[in-house]
Amino acid sequence: MTDKFLEQLRQIIDQQYILTADHDKEPYLTDWRKRYTGKALAIVLPRTSSEIAKIVHLCASNNICIVPQGGHTGFCGGATPDQSGNQIVLNLKRMNSILQIDEANQTITLEAGCILQNIQEAAAAKGFLFPLSLGAEGSCMIGGNLATNAGGTNVLRYGNTRDLCLGLEVVTAKGEIWNGLKGLRKDNTGYDLRDLFVGSEGTLGIITAAVMKLYPLPISQWTTLVAVDDVRSTIALLNLFQKRATSLLTGFEMMTNESLVLTHKHFPQMGNPLKGNPPYTVLIELSDHESEAHVRQLLEDILQDAFESELISDAVIASNLSQANAFWHMREHITLAQAEEGANLKHDITIPLSALDDFMRDTDALIRAKYPGVRIINFGHLGDGNLHYNIAAPQGVAPKEFNRLNEKPIHELVYAQVERFRGSISAEHGVGQLKLEGLRAHKGEVAHELMKSVKRALDPQNLLNPHKVVSI
Ligand SMILES: Cc1cc2nc3c(=O)[nH]c(=O)nc-3n(C[C@H](O)[C@H](O)[C@H](O)COP(=O)(O)OP(=O)(O)OC[C@H]3O[C@@H](n4cnc5c(N)ncnc54)[C@H](O)[C@@H]3O)c2cc1C
Repeated sequence: MTDKFLEQLRQIIDQQYILTADHDKEPYLTDWRKRYTGKALAIVLPRTSSEIAKIVHLCASNNICIVPQGGHTGFCGGATPDQSGNQIVLNLKRMNSILQIDEANQTITLEAGCILQNIQEAAAAKGFLFPLSLGAEGSCMIGGNLATNAGGTNVLRYGNTRDLCLGLEVVTAKGEIWNGLKGLRKDNTGYDLRDLFVGSEGTLGIITAAVMKLYPLPISQWTTLVAVDDVRSTIALLNLFQKRATSLLTGFEMMTNESLVLTHKHFPQMGNPLKGNPPYTVLIELSDHESEAHVRQLLEDILQDAFESELISDAVIASNLSQANAFWHMREHITLAQAEEGANLKHDITIPLSALDDFMRDTDALIRAKYPGVRIINFGHLGDGNLHYNIAAPQGVAPKEFNRLNEKPIHELVYAQVERFRGSISAEHGVGQLKLEGLRAHKGEVAHELMKSVKRALDPQNLLNPHKVVSI
């Protein structure tokens, strides 16, 4: 059966784009965090949506499931196939054309395999900002960003990927092509199909192209690092910036001292320029379309207020673009430093800002009491209430062994706290296979059943990314 299937596949797509040898398949089979390794019948690299539609038909008639894949940088194992060896990985990297930049409509239309950084650069070349930005932007793809509704560092001002998307083209589980590539900011014509596919993690359809919003490129940007003593002051500082800088506030990232110590350990060139290792370092960015001097003055005024109200104890303003980039790199390298340190227990959570201080104090205390010596690598897009609440084994303890013994109870403890404070167990990374089990309890019976009904309606054969997000 397998040979016949592959033979039919070769009639749809040139055989050089169907990888079946083990060494060719290998780079597509393990997720970025190295938590999951799967098997696949083949890695298929299509070039067009009509090829994908034909592949879906073929897979449907052979009962072969499809795992859509972009840059494979997701944190929840969503793009990694299972162990059966009876799935194909459909990687969209060859669908990487920018189809149109519509300057009057301020939109960009592109294929799903475009790498995020290339999109930012193409937009900038035309004087526009494409605001989605995250640490994996050199390799993640817009199809993956849409499928996970990625967040990143600009959500505070521009929203999640969902908020940036105006239209989609999708190949459905029935092998039809839905062309919803309209760049409309208003379109109240019944159910929002676009919103159904955004964030569906490849379980409802294969996103092949999208129309995304562009914004005028800011001409002035100032970035600062400030030292803060506690979470309560950090939130008061955020509120101060929200009130005074309003929409000019484009970044507000919190990093604990433990996170930066770890970053410095693995990337010694990335030292915190603030003196005395403050408990919390906050990166703040203001952007504007007016003169540099105007934004700089506003930033200095707000920092002055913050000093006087004793919300901050030290501040460094980046004096040029390369220093600003160095501040952002320090923030982005926390994730990379964690990967260097070894497996750790990640919790990508949101908590209402008003409850964040209590959540952190309570949860830190519970964790430290039960697991003495653990390192809480805590950082996040605080402006969005999004915390990466990650637990690393105590110094000198093998991470794998620590995680094997403690993963389940630590997840349970953190997620119980998330429920208690009415937060979410996945702020921006999605569900994939990692949080499949936890989702039911978190969403509640009614919401979980509704999600299953949607999956059954759109993919009755359970062909697309089965056992990710929901199992039917
Ligand atoms: C260093 C680092 C920093 C990160 N920072 C952030 C961050 O700040 N914010 C954030 O949200 N995430 C972050 N991530 C996670 C990850 O980069 C995002 O989830 C990203 O959106 C995934 O894109 P991808 O192309 O790699 O998708 P993949 O990992 O390939 O796939 C992710 C999911 O989407 C599905 N999928 C992929 N392409 C398609 C498609 N065309 N159609 C349908 N389904 C598809 C897959 O089946 C899978 O379920 C980070 C990751 C790394 C490694």
